Amino acid sequence: MDPYRLPRTVVPSRYDIRLEPDLTAFAFTGTETVTVSVVESVTEIWVNAVDLSVTAVSVTNARGESQRGSATAEPATERYRLAFATPLAPGEWRLEIAFTGTLNDKLRGFYRSTYKDATGVPHMLAATQFEATDARRAFPCWDEPDFKAVFASTLAIDPAMTAVSNTAIVSERIERGKKVVAFADTITMSTYLVAYVVGELEATAAVTVGSTPLRVWCVPGKRRLAAFGQAIGAASLAFFEEYYGLPYPGDKLDLLAIPDFAAGAMENLGAITFRETALLVDEAQATHGELERVADVVAHENAHMWFGDLVTMSWWNGIWLNEAFATFMEMLAVDAWKPQWRRWTSFGVSRAAAFVVDGLHATRPIEFPVNAPREADAMFDVLTYEKGASVLRMLEQYLGADVFRQGVRDYLRTHRFGNADTGDLWSALGHASGQPIPAVMDGWIFSPGYPLVSARREGNELVLSQQRFAYLKAAPESAGGAWGERPPAPPQTSIWKIPIQLRIDADGTRVLLEGTEHRVKLPGGFRKALVNAGGHGFYRVRYAPDLLEALVSRLDALEPIERFNLVNDAWAAVMAGLMPVTDYLDLTARFRDERDRNVWSAIMGSLLALNRVIAPAERPGLEALVRDRVSPALAALGWTPRPAEDELTRQLRGDLLRALGTLGNDAATQARAAELYAAHEKKQTEVDANVLPALIAICATAGDEARYHEFLERFRRAVTPQEEQRYLYALTAFRQPALIDETLARTVNGEIRTQDAPFVNRSMLMAVHARERAWAFVKSHWDAMDGMYPKHALRRMAEGVIGLATPALEHDVQEFFTSRKIDLGGKQLAQYLEQLRIAVALAEREGAALSRALARFA
Ligand SMILES: [Zn+2]
Repeated sequence: MDPYRLPRTVVPSRYDIRLEPDLTAFAFTGTETVTVSVVESVTEIWVNAVDLSVTAVSVTNARGESQRGSATAEPATERYRLAFATPLAPGEWRLEIAFTGTLNDKLRGFYRSTYKDATGVPHMLAATQFEATDARRAFPCWDEPDFKAVFASTLAIDPAMTAVSNTAIVSERIERGKKVVAFADTITMSTYLVAYVVGELEATAAVTVGSTPLRVWCVPGKRRLAAFGQAIGAASLAFFEEYYGLPYPGDKLDLLAIPDFAAGAMENLGAITFRETALLVDEAQATHGELERVADVVAHENAHMWFGDLVTMSWWNGIWLNEAFATFMEMLAVDAWKPQWRRWTSFGVSRAAAFVVDGLHATRPIEFPVNAPREADAMFDVLTYEKGASVLRMLEQYLGADVFRQGVRDYLRTHRFGNADTGDLWSALGHASGQPIPAVMDGWIFSPGYPLVSARREGNELVLSQQRFAYLKAAPESAGGAWGERPPAPPQTSIWKIPIQLRIDADGTRVLLEGTEHRVKLPGGFRKALVNAGGHGFYRVRYAPDLLEALVSRLDALEPIERFNLVNDAWAAVMAGLMPVTDYLDLTARFRDERDRNVWSAIMGSLLALNRVIAPAERPGLEALVRDRVSPALAALGWTPRPAEDELTRQLRGDLLRALGTLGNDAATQARAAELYAAHEKKQTEVDANVLPALIAICATAGDEARYHEFLERFRRAVTPQEEQRYLYALTAFRQPALIDETLARTVNGEIRTQDAPFVNRSMLMAVHARERAWAFVKSHWDAMDGMYPKHALRRMAEGVIGLATPALEHDVQEFFTSRKIDLGGKQLAQYLEQLRIAVALAEREGAALSRALARFA
């Protein structure tokens, strides 16, 4: 029997579930009646269940035939075998199961979350997180996405508490001292989308979108932070009803902020759960970046209500389509809601993250065959979300937005309440566009990597050629992935069908680069050519020097996303050994007048990476270079916003200040930041919301022990999730070894939530002042962390080893993972180790030239 797939001899159509959680004993009891169709005569029924005790089993059919069964756990495959003495005849049966389980603290299945109220008193709530395969920790079920069924849930809870599930409440009564809350039937849907939240919750008033009441839920005292999330919730819900051409599939929509939450959010139909930072925010006190995050996550989850919930992937190999599509739709919806945010420009930053991983030998195709659901755990990464969304955007731009939307509408209408695969979407888009979609898309989806398009001029022709982009000529010999379950190698291509948008002088044109080379005739008087005009292509561009100079000499003629790509592609060329680092540093000097925060983030990201590979003696030189590049832009902006200044400019000011005061180590900026922060604390002056977090970061960078304890206190007493995060991450920025050790200790002693602690460690591993101590700490606490942290967060923590970019540390990292035989799932570890190799190789290759260049600034 396939250890990962249940037999199809018995198929569920409806679950009537009753759960009774006990928040003081961390346990629950449950009963369920599952209406099943027996396809062929059987004596056993297999269901998924893990960490549950099945206490009674019986079956009944319409003829009144009834018998008890026996239940045997098979923990290795997370199943129970339910056996019956008399064979069950084909037809409909009601399967009744009684069971018990624990409310765990691992943030998966049915789990407990704790929080303190304003007076410091601890409280507890219970919540669920089922994707991918943890519904089986809450009730026995057919826990595969294509066993769709109707769920009718009842929760018996403490009368002082509130219960929320996927649908509206149909009845509520008191029974033996318990409040018994019954919920309406759900649509036919997958188990991983079922949700329960029980606690002392408060909600906003509902806003109605179409016919759907939409509310935001949180723990008591935080309702004042719900308005912004509710606003984008309502706006994106209306946007999607219009875009998809189908009404919202549920009977209500609740957005719930959960104090402990492993991921960012989860698209349970009608009961979307979020970590608090992704939903609750004080609009007046938040930065643009913090608001954008809330808008993104809410819109993303709402997009899933159709794409994922109404139409669901058949198996976990399809998770990319689910996530890539929701990420793409999140951009569309946020861009429609706040066009002034220019969301597709900042998507360049996300796309760049996917470029980094996909440029590795240890990358993977977006879609690959999945047997064990566990293999899909490693799919929740930048390749699924960001590369996936990027190639969908490229396709949308290629087909045209209206044609693309028509294909999506047809796809949803055809497959609603059912399951579908990538091929089904391609066929709907092919039908709408009259184009052979798989021929264009398969290379992007089923092959790893992406092309580097080189552009050069030959006489009156522009010559475009392609090759696969790689940072290293050959895969490094390293430990990563040696023990991981490797997906079978897919057929690989190094030739893509690339829809290329060109701008030759002022004229836009489109070519499909299908082979290794394509020639475009240039007009008389030709001056310049931009490849990837509009910036949506998932490929990098390398220009011949004369073509590059023509673009750089008129940067103001490019869109922000085009300038972003220019910088980002140039930096990638440096990392790949295709461009001298000194040329790149010269290039950054051309951007002193830059006013787009994304372009600056590409520049600052590259300088931070350099900071991790240079020797300590060279650091003053790099700091001086940062000051040289950033100061003119900041001087032009000033420290305080001008009247009617837009939100992006305000955020840019905060970003530049932070760069100057931290990486630039600018003493004057640090002194002024401390003064301004003190004045703000005494309420003598008002500091712009986008500037305040920069002041906090700068004060921490330059701070002493007294400042550390002041910020620690602020972290503990924070009144918004964003404020809590600012002070938490400020604790990672102090330079003193004793303070670094204090913060590290707090990541394993329960003071920092397990949803945050791995990310705190990650940021200390990435920071030159803290990385050696952080690495020693992580090594010695690995087992404890492995036991405490959510699995995917542990993986993200391990990503911090990329920051350990010295030969000695790299050697030690290899040694640790090899000797401990650590498996992070998929190719994640191999990806981290390859990125570390690339960084150290940069220093080996360019160290001397870099040292000379930086010495000029010191
Ligand atoms: Zn998603």
